[in-house]
Amino acid sequence: MRFTTLLAGLGLATTLLSACTRSSTPATSRAPGEPLLSAIQEDDVRRDLFALADDKFRGRRAGTADELRAAVWVAERAREAGLEPAGDEGTYFQFYPLRRVTVAASTRLTVSGKPLSLWKDAWVTTPLNARLDGPVVWLNSLADTVRRDLRGKIVAMPLLPPTPLPAPKMSLWAMRYTLAAIAQQSTALRTRGVAGIVLAANATAEPSLEFVGHRYQDGLYLLPSMPLPASAVPVLLVRQAVGAQLQARGARLQAELTANDYEYPSMNVVARAPGTDPTRRTEHVLFSGHHDHDGIGSPVAGDSIWNGADDNATVSVALLAIGRAWKQRPGARSALFVWHGAEERGLLGSRWYAEHPTVAKSSIVAVLNGDMMGRNAPDSAALLGSTPPHRNSKALVDMALKANENFTKFALDNSWDDAKHPEGWYFRSDHLPYARAGIPALFFTTLLHPDYHTPRDEASRIDVAKLTRMTRWMYATGWAVSATPERVTVDPDFKLER
Ligand SMILES: [Zn+2]
Repeated sequence: MRFTTLLAGLGLATTLLSACTRSSTPATSRAPGEPLLSAIQEDDVRRDLFALADDKFRGRRAGTADELRAAVWVAERAREAGLEPAGDEGTYFQFYPLRRVTVAASTRLTVSGKPLSLWKDAWVTTPLNARLDGPVVWLNSLADTVRRDLRGKIVAMPLLPPTPLPAPKMSLWAMRYTLAAIAQQSTALRTRGVAGIVLAANATAEPSLEFVGHRYQDGLYLLPSMPLPASAVPVLLVRQAVGAQLQARGARLQAELTANDYEYPSMNVVARAPGTDPTRRTEHVLFSGHHDHDGIGSPVAGDSIWNGADDNATVSVALLAIGRAWKQRPGARSALFVWHGAEERGLLGSRWYAEHPTVAKSSIVAVLNGDMMGRNAPDSAALLGSTPPHRNSKALVDMALKANENFTKFALDNSWDDAKHPEGWYFRSDHLPYARAGIPALFFTTLLHPDYHTPRDEASRIDVAKLTRMTRWMYATGWAVSATPERVTVDPDFKLER
């Protein structure tokens, strides 16, 4: 396997090999009626949470060795819990290729002969190979784009407020504003046949440039089956000050743009705890989370590590706790645990696993996904996929609601499951590819908070008692799904709004 060298370099080869040893499972008799909630303890959850959200994992970003090290940590804990490896070739791992397309360091930009500093004054928004050399046509409004012939021209304009604006108070507002503005203006200009596009930040966008620019510097993350963005027209984003240079009479732009295109491994961690029923143990209740987060960025208040304690160390450690509980008291059906990689880069690990499951796809009875389960008021939680058009299995939803009623008693906030909710939260985690693949699926969460996707998402800010209770809710739901004689079914009229 071509990843072996890389793993050896990281000191992971031993883990990979030791993970190949399959643990034997004593066949117990019938599953007793009740889930063993007391097997899920706050101390275990806290210990694991602080370990995985530690700075030493450097934010677990997909496309870096940090994600791979975090995945190995998860696999080691799964092995210690006595879970069986259920990835590829008798290991805990399912590797898949991330296709990375990035802007090469050899890229050169100049305005009227003066070099622009890449990633400081100017950002290439889509990596591609292209060359531009010509006078700049400066436009002030979108109306200007239809007044003159722009074919083959290099067009520059200020960033204009997008229509509609992102909803007030929406998470990551400034980033959404800037990205929406870039998308709208570059689409409008492309249809006019321009050769190159330069968008100069306005006062609203300028403060978000570091954050947005980090994304562009990082480039694209794709699965091999996903197409590259279709357009070959370069789009540059520049600071307000550069905008002033571009407006000057006779301004000229030269750009030598080069892209790197390569593959880098990412991985899902997959483990299994067998059920007790002689027939139903071949079927799986899939518990889902993601081990990756956002890595390292420009410091915020002196901290440059996005630890992703809530997002999603909380659920990574919840799955370990559920695994230990399942080993102590197995359910009738088997439990399958998938810690997905590259969720933050576009649900890539779950898309891959839903297409290439390591167990028979038909054996997956339901997917119980969790993302961010340790913040906000102690009694509040949400179950996404519980109301149409997001609900794909009423039977499954009923089991989750009943488990909450019987054991955990959270006050559920359904508003985030509304198709009109501006955040579109249902579409932002790993249950989605499974729901689209026709598998009953739910999303357990305690919702967004101001520390979401900032370096302040730290273990010390997690309500561990609440996380433990959420873990018990996922577990009790999975237990119920595992115990019924008949599988939960998909609602015949299930159709997502997008
Ligand atoms: Zn997440």
